[in-house]
Amino acid sequence: MSVTASTESTQSMSSAPAGEVLESLNPATGEVVGTYPVHDEEAVAEAVARARKAARWWSGLGFDERKNRLLAWKRTVVRRIDELARLMHAETGKPTDDARLETIGAIEHIDWAAKHARKVLGPRKVRTGPLAMNLAASVQYQPLGVIGVIGPWNYPILTPVGSIAYALAAGNAVVFKPSEHSPGVGAWIAETFAEAVPEEPVLQVVTGFGPTGAALCRSGVDKVAFTGSTATGKKVMATCAETLTPVIVEAGGKDAVIVADDADIEAAAEAVAFGAMGNAGQTCVGIERAYVTEKVFDAFVDRVATIAAGIRVGAQEDAQLGPITMPSQVEIIRKHITDAVERGGKAVVGGPESVRPPFVHPVVLTDVPEDSAAMTEETFGPTITINRVRDLEEAVAKANATRYGLGSAVYTRSTSKAMEIARRLRSGMTSINSVQTYAMVGALPFGGLGDSGFGRIHGPDGLREFAAAKSIARQKYRMPLPLLSFARKPRHMKLVMWVVRLLHGRGR
Ligand code: NDP
Repeated sequence: MSVTASTESTQSMSSAPAGEVLESLNPATGEVVGTYPVHDEEAVAEAVARARKAARWWSGLGFDERKNRLLAWKRTVVRRIDELARLMHAETGKPTDDARLETIGAIEHIDWAAKHARKVLGPRKVRTGPLAMNLAASVQYQPLGVIGVIGPWNYPILTPVGSIAYALAAGNAVVFKPSEHSPGVGAWIAETFAEAVPEEPVLQVVTGFGPTGAALCRSGVDKVAFTGSTATGKKVMATCAETLTPVIVEAGGKDAVIVADDADIEAAAEAVAFGAMGNAGQTCVGIERAYVTEKVFDAFVDRVATIAAGIRVGAQEDAQLGPITMPSQVEIIRKHITDAVERGGKAVVGGPESVRPPFVHPVVLTDVPEDSAAMTEETFGPTITINRVRDLEEAVAKANATRYGLGSAVYTRSTSKAMEIARRLRSGMTSINSVQTYAMVGALPFGGLGDSGFGRIHGPDGLREFAAAKSIARQKYRMPLPLLSFARKPRHMKLVMWVVRLLHGRGR
């Protein structure tokens, strides 16, 4: 498949500078999937200037009309889902059904953001309290203006749409810089949105490498929503600091699953194997560590090993795991596996020989030292480490002993135990008796702690990230006591202090 970007057919490409181009390559074959312009600082600034005007128009449409447009976009995505899945497969190597599933997640988020924006962000009255009883107060959340979205390649539609749909629903225009590995999906997103919103370039795409992303950070956008590695997140934050541009950082993870004695081992193994190895392990909320209690350890490892050994890897139509999308990641995966084995970890399935670029075959490691790279750094490959623990206390302590804090999971038949553990796990999201399911729920905020970043996409918090609270206090009548006035007298203060002591100074 070869898709050469038609630079005139989308709003995204209209001001491409002549010269440098970006080739999007099929990671399985090396074939050129498409060519895209490298947008320089000037081109990015032009896109943001266009977005600024579009933002005024878009925010003026109001919640209901924006909802209609977003739902029209959603229907276009549904209609063209097969074409998108083929493009995602070509650019990232992921199986087309995984691409469809990911797109379904994006569709759910467009729908949720469109339908809930008014309720979450629209004006609402708030209580004023006895000392301000002469006021009528309200709060509403106003769009920030133009949002710069910088996205990764591993979930090239679900991840950016998690920011884009919420930013748009809140009334902002968006300039999106997709990864150099998935510019075609980025252009496709803007092109389909333009079908629903042809009047103004409300969603534009700029393509290129890191410097294009850095130019977007410096362009004067009102906020940057970055998703990518922790290392790049730090650079993005430093660049945004130059102009005091606020930023959301959705970065990497080292997610753990805890499997308790009373867990349904068959269900846990099935979900954990997919959670670790689906998308060839290139998932920010991929399960990379499993802590399993003694009693069920062997049964769990056996079952995960059987599933992992049966996974079909390759570029063929029925493959369940595709290639490693980013060639430089292959060496990191190899290093983690080799280090774990050299330091006493057992390779139950595969081993260093499983790394056969551009593919990595499933690897299951057990008894891996807690301070090895495979336990502390993001591996981002189809590997899992499974370590035994005495009890759930040890499991929670080890799961939390990471500088990341993105997702986590717990398997137990006891709901109360599961809820208690979920609350104690230091991560932004936890799934119980399932993995990664929170990502598909529109109403649930998504984001991390520590090296996994800060800020939230999805849900009400995700809408508010792209809006500013506007508080209005309207005086209905003058207070008998002139407190905020030079007419204030000591007797007025005496009276007000008496009221304050009565209201707030009593009790224990
Ligand atoms: P990178 O950090 O390499 O890149 C992310 C984006 O940042 C890309 O568009 C990249 O452009 C751009 N970029 C690179 N340098 C700069 C710069 N100096 N200034 C501004 N932008 C820049 O991440 P990957 O694309 O490799 O994505 C994988 C990572 O993303 C993993 O760590 C994964 O865990 C994380 N991730 C986190 C998610 C979350 O929600 N928390 C979800 C999905 C992934 P270019 O590609 O052209 O270099």
